[in-house]
Formats: sequence, C-alpha cells, structure tokens
Amino acid sequence: MSSGEGLSLPPKRKAVRWLNPAGGYLEGYTHTLNPYTGCSFGCSYCYVRRMPVGLFRSEPWGSWVDVKPLDSAAFRKEWARESDKGLLSLFFGSATDPYQPAEAEHETTRRLLELMLERPPAFLLLQTRSALILRDTELLRAFGGKVRASITLETDDEAMRRHFTPSAPPLAARWRALRELREAGIPVQAAVSPLLPHTPGFAAKLASEAPRIVVDDFHRGDGSGGRRTAQLGIREEYRALDMEADYAPAAADRFYEQLRSYSGTNVHFSRSGFLP
Ligand code: SF4
Repeated sequence: MSSGEGLSLPPKRKAVRWLNPAGGYLEGYTHTLNPYTGCSFGCSYCYVRRMPVGLFRSEPWGSWVDVKPLDSAAFRKEWARESDKGLLSLFFGSATDPYQPAEAEHETTRRLLELMLERPPAFLLLQTRSALILRDTELLRAFGGKVRASITLETDDEAMRRHFTPSAPPLAARWRALRELREAGIPVQAAVSPLLPHTPGFAAKLASEAPRIVVDDFHRGDGSGGRRTAQLGIREEYRALDMEADYAPAAADRFYEQLRSYSGTNVHFSRSGFLP
C-alpha cells in the first residue's frame, strides 16, 4: 500500500491520548505509545488482528491506517503530567510500526521524538521493521543510552518473509538498518520475533551482526499464550508448507540455544529481551 492509500484522519473532536499505561507482556514499561492506529505492513501473524482495534473495523487489517493529529502543546502537557509522576519508560510501537510508509509523509514519529527530547524519558524502545528509522539516526543519537532500536528480523529467508509478511520491508533493508544504526552508535537489537522458518546460517549471521538479540515465538510472544496466533490459522500455514515441526515451541528453544553457543552473544528470550 502506498502511504496515501487507506489513510484517514479520525474525527477532529476526539482528544488523542498518546501515553497508555503498559501492562501484561510489556509490564516493566510505564507506557506504550503508538503513533498510528492500524499498520499497512499487515503481517499475517500480527496479534493486533485479534485485538479490538483489529476486530471491530470493517476493512481488513493492513488495508487502513489512521493518522492521529499531533498537537504539540497537548502532547507536551500530557508528557509533563506523566513525567511528573516519575521516570517514563516507553515501548514505542506495540500495536503499529512507527516507521511504516505513512511516516515518510506524516512524520508523527519524528515529531514525537523531537518533543520527547525536550524532557527525555528514562528509556525508550523503538520497535520497527523499516529502514526508514535511519532517517532519524541523529535524533536517536541525542537520546544517548536511553534508547534501544529493535529491528524485527524473524528470518533470513526472503521467500519466507514474502510468504508470511508480503507487504513488509525486504530483509536486506533491515540488515542494513541494523548495521548502520550500530555504526552510528545507537543501541540496537535484532528482534527475531516471531521466529519464522529460516536457513541454517541464520543464527551465525545474527551473532556476527547484532550486538543484542531477542528470540520469541508464537507461543510465548503473542500476549495470549499462543491463542491469538492459533485463531489466525498460522499453524495451518506451517502445515501447508510441510513445516509444522518448526511451529512448535521447541524450534525457538533450539534456536535460542544455538545463538547462546556463539561466544560473546548477548541473547535473550521472549519478554525479558524487550524489557528496559
Ligand atoms: S509490523 Fe507489527 S504491528 Fe504492523 S502488521 Fe506487522 S506485526 Fe503487526
């Protein structure tokens, strides 16, 4: 989808609340922040499809994006109010990708980062699978050690990427984002989340290119013990590919152990790897 298709502005009268209390899988953060509602990457396994925002909309998930109107003064007020309660730690992009195509035009993520820098949070995790994050390298650098860019790399097999996430960015762009952010001194991790079928060399490539890695799967990482993923028919997808064994939790466990076998690899499993 191009950045212009399927975009709509929510009704003007509705006041936007940017900072939502974090809980559940993201307990450990004070807030989540989602610059857009909806996500044009439309990944087949996206657990947001099974959440109210994905369920109670007539158009299919991935075909629409709501651009939230950003009022800088109102955001500053909300940010100051929450900051006054204590140090903020944010998971940026829990139900959308902050660097999806709409961001190239609307720059909501960029403007939010600029506003946050006026009074930086204790910690900010930015979750994305888009190399558009490189546009904001200088801004991210200004956060110092308070930011972590988390780049989704669920596989190194482009055919699998296309099968499960046909509208998401190609893997080569994500490897490039990981490398260039690291070279720019930005704390960065590869989020193998969820692990998809991959080539035998994936673990070694990750170990050599990512300073920090988190592995997750459909069973531990969808916020419902795998129920939402089951409802999306992902097991059947694996069966159709004759890869059902790769769907089992043991596949991610083995991959995690394989990564740990590389000396000096900073590797984490599931929720703990996403925490501040
Ligand atoms: S990029 Fe993330 S939020 Fe967007 S569809 Fe894919 S999994 Fe869902």
